[in-house]
Amino acid sequence: MNTPKRYTITAALPYTNGPIHIGHLAGVYVPADIYARFLRLTGKDVAYICGSDEHGVAIPMRAKKEGISPQDIIDKYHGIIKQSFVDFGISFDNYSRTSSKIHHETASEFFTKMYDDGEFIEEVSAQLYDAEANQFLADRFVVGTCPKCSFEESYGDQCENCGTSHNATDLINPKSAITGNVPTVKETKHWFLPLDKHEAFLREWILEGHKKDWKPNVYGQVKSWVEDGLRPRAVTRDLDWGIPVPVKGAEGKVLYVWFDAPIGYISSTKEWAAREGKNWEDYWKKDDTKLVHFIGKDNIVFHCIIFPSMLKAHGEYILPENVPANEFLNLEGNKLSTSKNWAVWLHEYLEEFPNQQDVLRYTLTANAPESKDNDFTWKDFQAKNNNELVAIFGNFINRVVVLTNKYYDGIVPTPTNFTEVDQEVLTAVKGFPNSIGKSIERYRFREASQELMNLARLGNKYLADEEPWKVIKIDEERVQTILFVALQISAALAVVSEPFLPFTSTKLKNILNLSPQTDAKALRWQDVSEKEVLLPTNHSINKAALLFSKIEDQSIDAQVAKLAATKIANAQEKKVVDPQKETIDFEDFTKMDIRIGTILEASVVPKTKKLLQLKVDVGIDVRTIVSGIAESFSPEEIIGQQVSVLVNLASRKIRGVESQGMILMTDTPEGKLAFVEPEKVVKNGQQVS
Ligand SMILES: [Zn+2]
Repeated sequence: MNTPKRYTITAALPYTNGPIHIGHLAGVYVPADIYARFLRLTGKDVAYICGSDEHGVAIPMRAKKEGISPQDIIDKYHGIIKQSFVDFGISFDNYSRTSSKIHHETASEFFTKMYDDGEFIEEVSAQLYDAEANQFLADRFVVGTCPKCSFEESYGDQCENCGTSHNATDLINPKSAITGNVPTVKETKHWFLPLDKHEAFLREWILEGHKKDWKPNVYGQVKSWVEDGLRPRAVTRDLDWGIPVPVKGAEGKVLYVWFDAPIGYISSTKEWAAREGKNWEDYWKKDDTKLVHFIGKDNIVFHCIIFPSMLKAHGEYILPENVPANEFLNLEGNKLSTSKNWAVWLHEYLEEFPNQQDVLRYTLTANAPESKDNDFTWKDFQAKNNNELVAIFGNFINRVVVLTNKYYDGIVPTPTNFTEVDQEVLTAVKGFPNSIGKSIERYRFREASQELMNLARLGNKYLADEEPWKVIKIDEERVQTILFVALQISAALAVVSEPFLPFTSTKLKNILNLSPQTDAKALRWQDVSEKEVLLPTNHSINKAALLFSKIEDQSIDAQVAKLAATKIANAQEKKVVDPQKETIDFEDFTKMDIRIGTILEASVVPKTKKLLQLKVDVGIDVRTIVSGIAESFSPEEIIGQQVSVLVNLASRKIRGVESQGMILMTDTPEGKLAFVEPEKVVKNGQQVS
């Protein structure tokens, strides 16, 4: 495409069945936001569009389980999600929801046009049915074995293990997710999109047309699907939650959520255009508009095969120029999971790291899962903050601003003679908008964020090399030039950091007394390359304010502990409690003599890994007990520990040591042993009864 006149940027519509977490930000919303902010800064006409997907099949499923209405769920999470986006500076031009009237109308019209044009196949077929729940089973309502990878918990629409998308009837050994029943089959009428008919178009458009400019992970997935052979896909469902099928005789049926959801981009654009006095059709129907879909890898089939086939079949719409899907982000080595609570929730993050949105934006970008799955760790988050944002970016700005205030009352000084180094640095600065911009345009946001940090590095090194705090004592005139140059770098940073670190950019512009982004006089992206001077002599700046602050170990330890607690809670849930043993008489119990004792000495039994030899004061005497606890405790840490001891257990030789009794133990959820000890310190020899 020649230079586009305008850009329509869409970010995957989040399901309103839970809050959003770092995986969503890293995979979709932050990269799309960097892209949109960058384009706006270069003066482009941009519509950055999103909204809540409120017809997701998981929603009525969850409502049924919780005994509330689907509307309750979507209202709650639409609010939470929308707020999280605002809090993290995700600069959507419009955030809509698919339960809105405008979306219902738009999706109905879209379907009707395709229906009238004969783009669907109408077919009565046998579908899975749960007689007890009185419901047809598709998508999330049915689980079974994936026909492709044999994963046993595959959903009816897509296998989470291998990513294959299929029909519910393809599942082996299907089971109803509502009742657990084995489904029967029942006949029902549905409308199908004949994807096989669009195969030639998809081959030409993607496999030939986008061989070079689409990301290899996206291109590869599309290629494998097309080459596996495409089949008709049902675009309607027997459900009561969704957009009614606008055809006579289709009562009780709704549009399949994956038919209506991407149309949500169009209806959200309509909503925005009406508010802003624009023509929405320019953004969806004109050839000089560049359409880009930002999504996660689990959505590739829908955005690269199904939705484009719909757009093509409808006939009036443009197709996406690119679909830069990301791979998945993991958390501390494990897959992010809403149901297992294995996540960093955005609303919780902000409670624990207030006003530090940019730290998370930066970490997630520097570590973005662009070409393969990647891992988020709290240690790395701390390192990115402390070693890069604080030590390089923040440190540089702070020194420049403090020194300018100290030596020149906050007035940009007049430079005298530029040395060769000064000139090299000023020239290098002018190159950054181009290098960062090129990476952004190729959807390489990690690379772009590293280039941004390189600009801060350049400034930091310049100041460290030139040492104005030393030179001031011998050559004040030279310091004027050094700070003038350093201030130009600071202003450049304020501009080019905006897509990545919008909150920091605003703060920095305020410190440098530059017009905010919303102002017409604000510096634009290309000004950094083209303007001779960004901060002119005699311009006055404000006092220094910290852009970033160091994150201490204890904050990180608290986050790691929180995740460990989640792991324990998950393990607890899974743990099967042993059944009760057979009944005994009271006499049987009283035969056991259990006393409280204190461990006086402990050592490892030679040539063993599990056994500790203990000297225990049990009140009656001090005796030797061998206990298999060495994998849970070191000898030193248990000296002085009070324990419960079965003292009248017949003594026996263990590894050559006579053991006189047994210490009572239990297990922790992590699989470690724990002592059974009295809640208060008691005398040795006290009976447990
Ligand atoms: Zn599978």
